[in-house]
Amino acid sequence: MITYQIGLPEPHTHSFHVTLTIPAPHAEQRVSLPVWIPGSYLVREFARHLSGLQATHRGKPVAVQQIDKATWLVRCKPGAALTLSYRVYAFDTSVRAAFLDAQRGFFNGTSLCLRAEGFEQRLHRLELPTLPEGWQVATSLPALSVDAAGRGAYGAADYDELVDHPVELGTFWRGTFEVRGAEHELVVAGALPDFDGERLLADTQRICEAQIAFWHGAADVPPFAHYVFLLNAVDDSHGGLEHRASTALIAPRRDLPQRGKPESVTLSDGYVSLLGLISHEYFHTWNVKRLRPAEFARYDYTRENYTELLWFFEGFTSYYDDLLLRRAGLIDDERYLRLLAKTVSGVLATPGRQVQSVAQASFDAWVKYYRTDENTPNATISYYTKGALVALALDLSLRSEAGAAKRGGRAATLDTVMRHLWAASAGGPISEADIAAALQHVGRRSFAAALAAWVHGTGELPLQPLLAAAGVAWQPQSATLAQRLGLRVSESALTGVKVSHVLAGGAAQQAGLSAGDELLALDGWRLRRLDDALRLLAPGQAATLLAARDQRVLSLALTLPSTDAGNPLAAVSLALQDKPAQPALALRKAWLGT
Ligand SMILES: [Zn+2]
Repeated sequence: MITYQIGLPEPHTHSFHVTLTIPAPHAEQRVSLPVWIPGSYLVREFARHLSGLQATHRGKPVAVQQIDKATWLVRCKPGAALTLSYRVYAFDTSVRAAFLDAQRGFFNGTSLCLRAEGFEQRLHRLELPTLPEGWQVATSLPALSVDAAGRGAYGAADYDELVDHPVELGTFWRGTFEVRGAEHELVVAGALPDFDGERLLADTQRICEAQIAFWHGAADVPPFAHYVFLLNAVDDSHGGLEHRASTALIAPRRDLPQRGKPESVTLSDGYVSLLGLISHEYFHTWNVKRLRPAEFARYDYTRENYTELLWFFEGFTSYYDDLLLRRAGLIDDERYLRLLAKTVSGVLATPGRQVQSVAQASFDAWVKYYRTDENTPNATISYYTKGALVALALDLSLRSEAGAAKRGGRAATLDTVMRHLWAASAGGPISEADIAAALQHVGRRSFAAALAAWVHGTGELPLQPLLAAAGVAWQPQSATLAQRLGLRVSESALTGVKVSHVLAGGAAQQAGLSAGDELLALDGWRLRRLDDALRLLAPGQAATLLAARDQRVLSLALTLPSTDAGNPLAAVSLALQDKPAQPALALRKAWLGT
C-alpha cells in the first residue's frame, strides 16, 4: 500500500509537509507530480510548489535525481521501503490546487501526492494524523479509520481515485440529506454568521433529486453512495471543479442565502448563479466523470490530454445546469429564458464564433480557453456557451420533429439521447460517433449534417426558428455604442476609458485603435465614459479621437457606422410568446417541465 502522511505543523506558512512511503520500491523508482488536474484543461505545473524533496532508504538518506520538471528518481535495493518527504507550498485560492493558512486548508491530490510510478493500481492510503485545534476534515475519500473530526486514515483503490477526492480542512457549516439511498453532504466554509444553511441544503436537494430522476428515471439509484459538495465562500470569486463523488466550489459569500429573508430577496441573480454552479458540477458526476471522452479513459498526468468533445461534456452540461433548475421548480420560465438569452447574447457578441468551431475550441482549450488575451473574442469561441446552444438546437430539433410526426408519444428529446448514451456505454468512455449514433437512434434520422455545421462549422445556429416552434419569441436588442464601434472598454475614475478588446472588422479597428489604448477626447471634448461619445458622434461622419498609448497621444479618425440595423454583436432577449399555437405550447411545456 502506498501511503501519504499529510502534516500541517505551521499552517500560517502555507506549507503542507508530506511523507510518502513506498513499501517495496522498484530498483529505479520514479515519482512524479501531475502537471494538470482533470476537469481543468491547462498545464499548471503543480511541481513548481514542491520543494525540499528528501529520500530515506534502509535507514539512511539516499540521493534523489531530478529527471524532468515534475519527475524524480531514487535507486533502491530490494526488500526495503522507500520514504520520501517534501513540502508543498499551498496558497492558491482556486478549486484546482491547494491552499493553507491559519484559518483553512484545502488540497487536491494532484497538488500534494507524488505518483509512485509502477504502483498506480495499488491501494493508496492518505493519513491526516493531526490538525490544528478545532479543525475538521471534509472529503468524499472513503474513510478507513477516522475520529469524529476526520483525523485518521483514508483509502483509495488506485492513484486515480486518490487524486479525485479534494479535501477541505478547517471549521465549516455542514448539513446532509439523502436521495434514493445516496448520502449527500453539503460543507460550507467561510460563510457569514447569518448564512441560511438549511435553505441552501433544501435547494441543493431539489437539484440532486431532479438530476437523479433525469439520468435514472423513477426507480434506479445513482452510481455513488456518498457525495460531498465542498463550497468555499469568499469575497469575490466563482467557479467549480467536478469529481467522481464530490465537487469543489467557490462563490461570493454575498450570494449565499441569508436567514430571515423572504424568497424574493434570496433568489437574487447571485444565488441563482450559485444554484446553477451546483447543478453544473453535479451533472458532471455523470457527464464527464463517468460518461467521458474516449481520450480520458485513462488520464495521462504528465502532459495535455486532447479531446474534441468538450463542446459535449462542458457545453451540454452547461445547457442542462440552468434547465434542470427550471425543471426542479427553483426558477420560473421567465428567469430561465433570461439566463438562456444571456448565453445566446454572449455567443453573438463574440466574432470568434465565425473563426473557430466548438470542436476546435475543445482541442485547443489547453492553449486558448484557459489563456485568454485581448484577441480571444476575435479568434475563439467558448465550448461552454456555444456548446450549450448546440445542445439547445439539437433538443428543440428533436422535440419539434417528434411532435410534428406524432410518433405515438415517443419521447424524442435530448434527455433521451443522454440516457441512451449512458445505457449504451454503461456509463463509460464515448466518441463523437457514439453521440451521432444516439441522436440517430432517438431522432430516427441522421444528424450528421447538423453536427458538421454546428460542431465542426462556424455558421450561425438556427435558434430563432427553433425557439419560435417552442413558443419563445426572439427579440433583438439595440446595439450598444461599444458594439456599434466594435470594441470593449473598462471604465473607472482612475483609468478613464480604456480599450480592453478591439473586435475584428469593426469601426474601432478601422480607426486604428488597439487594446490598452486610453480614449481621451473626441472632437475636442474630454471623454469621461464611452457613452459621452454618443452626443459627439454623428453616424457616417468621421470624428477626431485622441487616444493615449505608451505615453504617446495619437489622433485617429473614428467613424460611427451609419446604421445599427442587424448589428451582429447585438444582444437578444427571449420571451414567452403570448398565445402560441397548440403544438408550440405543448412543446414548451414539455421542454421546460411546466
Ligand atoms: Zn463544467
